[in-house]
This record gives sequence, structure tokens and C-alpha cells, in this order.
Amino acid sequence: MADTIFDKIIRREIPADFVYEDADLVAFRDLHPQAPVHVLFVPRKPIATLNDLTPEDALLVGKLVLAATAYAKREGFAEAGYRTVFNCNHDGGQTVFHVHLHLLGGGPLRGGFGQ
Ligand code: 5GP
Repeated sequence: MADTIFDKIIRREIPADFVYEDADLVAFRDLHPQAPVHVLFVPRKPIATLNDLTPEDALLVGKLVLAATAYAKREGFAEAGYRTVFNCNHDGGQTVFHVHLHLLGGGPLRGGFGQ
């Protein structure tokens, strides 16, 4: 897989505002936040899109989700609510081809389904 901006962030070659990291993943603030809190949860393993996940990645995907929910709880907005998004490929709005989970929260969000 081609190197992306997120690989460079993970390797600390370019700066980012990290809020969490462990052996499997990192989390840092989005450069162009779409909500009061907008954090990206990124596996260290370079997987281009959701379509490239395999059954052996199941635990990793679970860890991404759990890291995001734990962060929302720590920051105190879990009960109020938040949104999590995986964009996939061009029609899904994906611009960085290294799988990542968006966590958006910290206030009411517009544009959700059913609104
Ligand atoms: P996607 O559109 O692929 O789902 O999400 C990519 C996200 O990465 C976008 O929300 C964009 O603002 C963010 N982004 C792109 N380049 C950088 C960067 O260099 N640093 C940070 N922190 N976020 C970035």
C-alpha cells in the first residue's frame, strides 16, 4: 500500500495533536474539525479501505471502536452522544487511503440520518 499522510503522522515525521495511542492504534485531532471534538482513530497497520479488511482484522476494528467510545467517556460527552464514521472510497468521501474512524462530538451534530 502506498504511504499516506497518516503513515507519516504515525511515524512522527509530521506533527499531529495526539490524544491517545497504544500498540495497535493512534488517535489525533482532525486538521479540519467538523465538530467541537473531531478525532481520528487510525490503526498502525496500513489498510487502505474498509474493503481491504480481512477476518484477521476483526479484533483491530473492535479496538478502534472501543478506543473511540472510551475517549468519548473520558472526555465526558458519551452520554450526550456522538457520531462515528468510516468513509470508504470516493463515493463515501474517503480522502486518505489508510482506514480510520472519525469520532465527532462535543455538541449537537447536524446532518445525521433521519434529520
Ligand atoms: P476521510 O475524508 O478520508 O474520511 O478523512 C480524512 C480526514 O483526515 C479529513 O477529515 C481531513 O481533514 C483529515 N486530514 C487530512 N490531512 C490531515 C493531516 O495532515 N493532519 C490531520 N490531523 N488530519 C488530516
